[in-house]
Amino acid sequence: MPNYECDKCGACCRGNLLVEVYDLDVWREPKLADSHISLWTRDMTRQTLMDELEQEGKCLIIAGGPDACAFLREDNTCDIYPTRPNVCVAMQAGDDQCQLARQADGLPELRPGGA
Ligand code: SF4
Ligand code: SF4
Repeated sequence: MPNYECDKCGACCRGNLLVEVYDLDVWREPKLADSHISLWTRDMTRQTLMDELEQEGKCLIIAGGPDACAFLREDNTCDIYPTRPNVCVAMQAGDDQCQLARQADGLPELRPGGA
């Protein structure tokens, strides 16, 4: 894959993509449990929440539809960057998800080398 440089447009965190959070993500960054936009109730105990998340396939959603991620700062950086969810770690500038998110925000396609 060519070398793409993220231009910090923030489109991938602004709700253009569903951002899923799993139990390991919440163990690493407990703040994720308080910021989700899932239909799950927020006042369930942490243990109940973790028990639910440990069931295969269950996750929280922290961004999607009209809702931007609560950790997206005004300058489009991530407030929990060192402990962000795995799905965010796996996101690569220039990949299909990146380009889709940019398209949804009316931004031009990201080009290799930041051009
Ligand atoms: S959509 Fe792509 S270019 Fe924009 S912030 Fe996300 S990874 Fe970077
Ligand atoms: S946790 Fe950080 S990288 Fe992940 S969607 Fe939210 S702001 Fe973006």
